[in-house]
Amino acid sequence: QGEVLIATKTHAPDVATARTHIEKALHELGRERLDIVHLHAARLADPFRERAAVLELLMELQQQGVIGLIGISSHYVCAIREAAKHPEIAVLHPLINRLGRGILDGSAKEMADAIHAAAEAGKGIYAMKALAGGNLISSALESINHVRQLSGVHGVALGMLSNQEIDANLDLFEQRDPVLSNWQTLQQRRRSLRIMERFCTGCGSCVKACSEGGLSLVEGKAVVNSEACVLCGYCAAACPEFIIRVV
Ligand code: SF4
Ligand code: SF4
Repeated sequence: QGEVLIATKTHAPDVATARTHIEKALHELGRERLDIVHLHAARLADPFRERAAVLELLMELQQQGVIGLIGISSHYVCAIREAAKHPEIAVLHPLINRLGRGILDGSAKEMADAIHAAAEAGKGIYAMKALAGGNLISSALESINHVRQLSGVHGVALGMLSNQEIDANLDLFEQRDPVLSNWQTLQQRRRSLRIMERFCTGCGSCVKACSEGGLSLVEGKAVVNSEACVLCGYCAAACPEFIIRVV
């Protein structure tokens, strides 16, 4: 295992489902212990109230040695502020990017301040969505570096789809000089728009935000017309559910 830590999360709304998630993670990873388990309540403003029973289960499993550290992942500034006060939470996984895309109750500055305060309170912090779900891919290097240098951020979680992306990120995070041509290639690669359909409420905000005819509502769900989409990202910024990704 070396220095590798494995983090996972449960979005379960109840204890029985959360227990199933933990057992499944242990089984599929072939482990007896999970290093970090997050209470994944990305879209809940008050997970400590709405997921209280699940949090208690995680604490119980931690006492039994099945879980190393308990974390919380959130898109809410208020949840990160609250988590900083909870001694049972050791790790925070907040959403932050240079444009503040996806933060549900505040600005990038407010989230950055909450992160700083939480780190001062002793929490370990690794950020998510530094590229705003792929919407900042054309400025990936600048956007990742922006999050890395924020006060209190100890690490950044990055989704990677190719060996080239893994190599570029390793160069960057192992303090080697990033090979700019590699980053330019990654930043210019043709991407596509994806909508996480099962979370789509059919509100239509994305359709209104698109002047290219790139989206329509079909049976209550937003659907992409790839021929028309120019990947400008305006729809992603307009989506209240933060479910539009550039991949
Ligand atoms: S990325 Fe731009 S062009 Fe494509 S669907 Fe969204 S708003 Fe329309
Ligand atoms: S803005 Fe988001 S939730 Fe609303 S229709 Fe578009 S994709 Fe669905």
